Formats: sequence, C-alpha cells, structure tokens
Amino acid sequence: MIYLDSLASFPLLPEVYDAMCESLKEDYANPSASHLLGTSAQEKIENVRAQIADRLEAFPSEIIFTSGATESNNLILKAHVERALAQGNIPHLITSAIEHKCILAICKHLESKGCEVTYLAPNNKGVVSPESVRKAIRENTILVSLMHVNNELGTINPIREYGKICFENEVAFHTDAAQSFLKTALDVEDDFIDALSLSAHKIGGPKGIGVAYFRDLRNKDLQPVIHGAGQELGIRGGTLATPLIVGFGAAVENFEPRYEKAPFDLLKTNLLDLLKSHGIEYYVNGEGQTLDSCLSITLPNIDVDGLLRSTKDIYSLSQSSACSAGSIEPSHVLSALGFDRARAAKTLRISFSFYTQAEEISKLVKDISYFREG
Ligand SMILES: *Cc1c(COP(=O)(O)O)cnc(C)c1O
Repeated sequence: MIYLDSLASFPLLPEVYDAMCESLKEDYANPSASHLLGTSAQEKIENVRAQIADRLEAFPSEIIFTSGATESNNLILKAHVERALAQGNIPHLITSAIEHKCILAICKHLESKGCEVTYLAPNNKGVVSPESVRKAIRENTILVSLMHVNNELGTINPIREYGKICFENEVAFHTDAAQSFLKTALDVEDDFIDALSLSAHKIGGPKGIGVAYFRDLRNKDLQPVIHGAGQELGIRGGTLATPLIVGFGAAVENFEPRYEKAPFDLLKTNLLDLLKSHGIEYYVNGEGQTLDSCLSITLPNIDVDGLLRSTKDIYSLSQSSACSAGSIEPSHVLSALGFDRARAAKTLRISFSFYTQAEEISKLVKDISYFREG
C-alpha cells in the first residue's frame, strides 16, 4: 500500500510504538492513585504535560488532556459560549467557512443555543484575511476561532495577525493547531493565542489523545464538557490514559527532527515536474505558504473518480470530497474556494509521510496518466 494520506493520520512512529508497549505493560495503575505505581504513572503524565507546554511556550497548568482535537474544539468553544450564556449575554463567535468539519458542527449547535456566529469567507487561495477578522468583531464578540494549517489545502494561515487583532480588541483567540504543531512555528505568546487544540495522531502519535490549551486556566471559571471525578482541574473528567499520553510524548520528542529532515519539498517538486513532463494539466490549490508535506491539486483532464476506484487497493489517497448517499458532495473547503461539484471531484489531496519514496510518486503520476479523459 502506498500511503499518501498523512494529513488524515500520520503513520505511528516506531518510537511511539515502543514507548506505548512498555507503558501498557508497566503503567496499569490509576494515575490518580496515591500509591507508588499510581504516582509513577502520574509522573510520566506530568512529564509529557510539561514537554508539550514547553513546545508551545505555555505553562503545564494550562494544558488539559482530551481524547483529541475534536474534543478540544468542543471543550474550548462550548466553555466560552456557555459562560457568556450563563451570564445572560448573547455571545458572538467568529470562525471561517474552511474550518475542520467539527468546528462547523459545534458552531451550528451553539447557534441553536442562542449564540451568534460569523463564518468568514477565504479568498480563492484559501486564506482568511486578517482585515476581515477585524471588521467582523462586534461589541458582543467573545471568541475568534481560526485554524492554523488547513487540513484539506495544507495552507498556513496568518494566525499571528489574527491573534494580534484579537488581543487589541480584547477578544479571546482560539486556533485549531492539529495540523500545524511541530510542522511549522507555533507559540502561544508570539501568536497571541488564548486557546488551542492539538491531536497526537497528526504527528505520528496514537489516536484518541489530544490537548486543549487555555491561557490562565486556573483563573477561568470554565464549564466542563465531560463532568467527572475532578481530573484535569475538574474540566475534563475520566481516568487519564497513561499509555496514550506516553505515546503522545514520544511523538512530540521524535516527530519534529524527522519532519525537518524529510525531503518533502523535493517530493512535491518531483510530482509537479512529472505531471508536466507527462503533459498533464494541473492546478495547485491554496498556493502561498503551505506545508511541504501536503499538496492539494486539481487535474481537470483526469478521471479522478475512475483513478481512485481502480487504484484503491494500491494508494491511500484522499479526494477532497466525501461521498454521501450515492451523490458526491463537494468538500465545504473547496466549495468555499468557489469550486463547483465537477472541479471538486477532480481534486486530490496528496500528503506525504516519512516513508514516502520518489518511486511511489513516479508510479502515481504514471497511473494518473492512464486516466486521461477524451
Ligand atoms: C484531524 C483534525 C481534527 C480532529 O482531530 P481528532 O484528534 O481526530 O479528533 C481537528 N482539526 C483538524 C485541523 C484536524 O486536522
């Protein structure tokens, strides 16, 4: 299998596997228990908390472990909105039309609870302009939620500019950093970030573990989404998943140096050069600042549906659209960029991992060339 879907989930790093196997065996005690085995598990968890805080320039006391970025996004958005609703205010939230689906789903839910939401439109390259953020801020705006790296386009958004505008207007700024953490610069101080979401499986860690960062968490009166027995400052109940957290820590330790060394830019250039030499027309989506490991590409003269159908046992590839009930719904991200259904169906998201080989890319281009239309 040729895996070209690392933005959906990055292959587990071998160091993560080893660390987790050991932790599954050793750390069976409840980390909340006060005996030696409990405190030893707790210590490992606190080490990872400190390690992640350090990478973000945050304090360990501002880091909450969750089940992943979906839960972190739920926790952060709901906590802010519910607090305002409880105070009898009508809160206003600003986000964009190209956020991860879960943000849009949470916002829809919050709208049903009486929250007002502005969905900013990106330009045709997939970037939400900082100026549009400034213009959208109202008297009752409590939170701006804009993602760092877009998971369909790989575009790196100007979060420092968003954050600065929020800071100047005394509005909290949240960024979904699931795709950017350890792949590009991210710092809660420099970027004026008040809340942030991370997910371990986007950096070679296990699924089912993530982080929610809240600035000055201890001084905030936040409502939990999962009520429990007081873990994570009472904000996120449930016994902490020691092996998953240990795996997250091993990913944080090992991902970045390998990501920096990986020849992603070469793979990308190779792919585009090969398409050119095969005479295949292409458009790169979301140009500008993008992750080297990701390429969103539209192939107007290729039967992309046919390609994916016939090669689904060979490639793990993502068409930037989801099939539902027999009809192809164009992805909300591509729709927001102005793509119609046909153009969206001809779009591929190709994302590389540490295992991607140059030969795999030439094979892909050759296979693409067999699906020329007309
Ligand atoms: C993957 C992803 C999520 C969801 O993360 P989970 O940990 O799988 O819940 C949220 N936002 C972005 C940008 C993502 O890429």
